[in-house]
Amino acid sequence: MITANLIVDLDNVRARYECHRPGCTEPREGPVFGTEDVRAFVAVIRNDHRARCTGESR
Ligand SMILES: [Zn+2]
Repeated sequence: MITANLIVDLDNVRARYECHRPGCTEPREGPVFGTEDVRAFVAVIRNDHRARCTGESR
């Protein structure tokens, strides 16, 4: 079962993250634009979102 999608659009240099977990407080992350921002986003979003998704960081 897919609970989240990381969408990277290399043609337009942007990325976003969509979470499908029921009860997620922030199901949409991004989009971010630009090579550096996309790179940073992709590198950390799964971990960052997991914290937000479960409320562990709140
Ligand atoms: Zn989530």
